[in-house]
Amino acid sequence: MSTQLKNKLIFERSREGRRGFRVPELDVPARKPEEMVDKKYLRVNETALPEVSEVDVIRHYTRLSQKNYCVDLGFYPLGSCTMKYNPKINEVTAGLAGFAGLHPLQPQKTTQGILELMYDLTERLCEVTGMSWGTLQPFAGAHGEFTGMKFFKSYFKKRGDTGRTKVLVPDAAHGTNPASAHISGFDVVEVKSNEKGMVSVEDLKQHLDENLAGIMLTNPNTLGLYEEDIAEIAELVHDAGGLLYYDGANLNAVMGKSRPGDMGFDVVHLNLHKTFSTPHGGGGPGSGAVMVNKKLEPFLPAPTVRKRGSEYYLDHDIPDTMGRISGFYGNIAVLVRAYTYILTMGHDGLKRASELAVLNANYLKEKLKGRYFLPYDRVCKHEFVLSAQKMKDANGVNGTDVAKALLEFGIHAPTVYFPLIVHEAMMFEPTETESRESLDNFIEVMHEIADLAEKDPDKLHAMPTSTPVRRVDQVQAAKHPVLRWQPE
Ligand SMILES: *Cc1c(COP(=O)(O)O)cnc(C)c1O
Repeated sequence: MSTQLKNKLIFERSREGRRGFRVPELDVPARKPEEMVDKKYLRVNETALPEVSEVDVIRHYTRLSQKNYCVDLGFYPLGSCTMKYNPKINEVTAGLAGFAGLHPLQPQKTTQGILELMYDLTERLCEVTGMSWGTLQPFAGAHGEFTGMKFFKSYFKKRGDTGRTKVLVPDAAHGTNPASAHISGFDVVEVKSNEKGMVSVEDLKQHLDENLAGIMLTNPNTLGLYEEDIAEIAELVHDAGGLLYYDGANLNAVMGKSRPGDMGFDVVHLNLHKTFSTPHGGGGPGSGAVMVNKKLEPFLPAPTVRKRGSEYYLDHDIPDTMGRISGFYGNIAVLVRAYTYILTMGHDGLKRASELAVLNANYLKEKLKGRYFLPYDRVCKHEFVLSAQKMKDANGVNGTDVAKALLEFGIHAPTVYFPLIVHEAMMFEPTETESRESLDNFIEVMHEIADLAEKDPDKLHAMPTSTPVRRVDQVQAAKHPVLRWQPE
């Protein structure tokens, strides 16, 4: 088939009168729409639905499904996103009628199962993080960060400590951190990284005063490096009267190994969709569960799930609550998947997943650092950051070129141009379930791209050639995205 016909939209395939179904002749008197539905609800204009045959529809959707790149198809080293292999048993449990068919307003005596799951999941997440209780309401990591900042707010308000307006955020932080602090009404102050790629304790000390509300930290940080000075940082911030917020999106590196609660953090958000396996490509669905220590428990969003005797219930009686964070109880299907993952993996399995994530990342890092510049050459956790700066200086090949070339080789691109402290950053996070062979294949491809950069950079600039869309105008795509077909 010509590429042109293959890439036609279903609307462009439409031919007047073509049908994909046949219904029996009408054998009752016909009625006008306005006899059945109030006129104000009736359509004014014709709909622009495509008229196609059954074969056209089937081919259209089959083709679309094949254009979709996913972890079920190949290697997906997208840094900072933890694209896990998602065990298929998760889909079975999340789809069980007892969960999928629940209504949020059902009486509590009929929802004991999901409440027990939420209670038990919260307990297990407390164990993993070293915290005392939490909320499953937030719908994403960023939403969890927002909730975390509300804990800060509620805590200082209760103490009448209204001058604490400043939240520290390291320069390596995920962009959502400063955004969440800012949208919650705090002034964001950047803390510098040192030459080791970690929070500079010297710089941190400059910001410890009576205006300090606290700090938001990711550990391991977005360079994939474990903050060695975390105990000292926690002590300094607490001594200055501030709180510590842990961005737990990187928990995949440390499960069963180290706990934010033990590091001194007061509040933690987890990305259940990342660390605890829910497919979330394209931005959802998510769950940004937030766990807190005893100090912050009084401010939990209401309701929170509790247990009385053998009965589970939603406790609305939280006098100092920050209020609701979501309309109902959170993203239930993601919670069921996370719970299934935890139960099937078990304590040792979770620990093993982290060990393998770290092993895979270090293996790749060691095999690639000879060909690509590694700005922070240390043992990493679950991810690491290379730079294309030297390649760019030598041959004009930048991070985007490498990312686009990977698509040509049938591999998903890394995260590029983040974190901001590395020029031409390329951030790789290999999934812990990848085999040695699949990692070796990736390494081979990366070496081939490095060879091309030296010998034939123009070939790289022209890639990808085999994807449905080649290179998009990124500014236009971000500012004026055209996401669907519209009639002329
Ligand atoms: C993914 C991520 C977030 C944000 O999580 P979302 O669910 O995408 O809102 C925050 N911090 C870090 C380090 C992340 O990797």
